[in-house]
Amino acid sequence: MNKEFYATEISVSHDEQTLTINWADGHRSVYSLDGIRRACPCVECAGGHDNMGRPADPAIFNESPRQKWTITQMQESGNYAMQIFWGDGHDSGIYRWEYLRQLCPIENKQSPAAG
Ligand SMILES: [Zn+2]
Repeated sequence: MNKEFYATEISVSHDEQTLTINWADGHRSVYSLDGIRRACPCVECAGGHDNMGRPADPAIFNESPRQKWTITQMQESGNYAMQIFWGDGHDSGIYRWEYLRQLCPIENKQSPAAG
């Protein structure tokens, strides 16, 4: 696996509604909670099995937040992903590090041609 897609530190600010990830390569990503929820990769949120594994779409971070979100827990899943437990009880989304890194709003601004 690619070392650059490994998170060393993850933090959530419910006041600012952001999720911050520090990556092993020194990059830092800041996501809106609403965007992260929109990006939930589970079957239910992806709209069925056919849509699972679809490429990350950073455009979701340009949408206005639908509501305030709470994250109650984050748990590493193996060493390739993390599971997010949302305040509304939703917890079936397993976010791969690679997927999260592809979503990074900053990364996508800097290199729009990537991928
Ligand atoms: Zn979901």
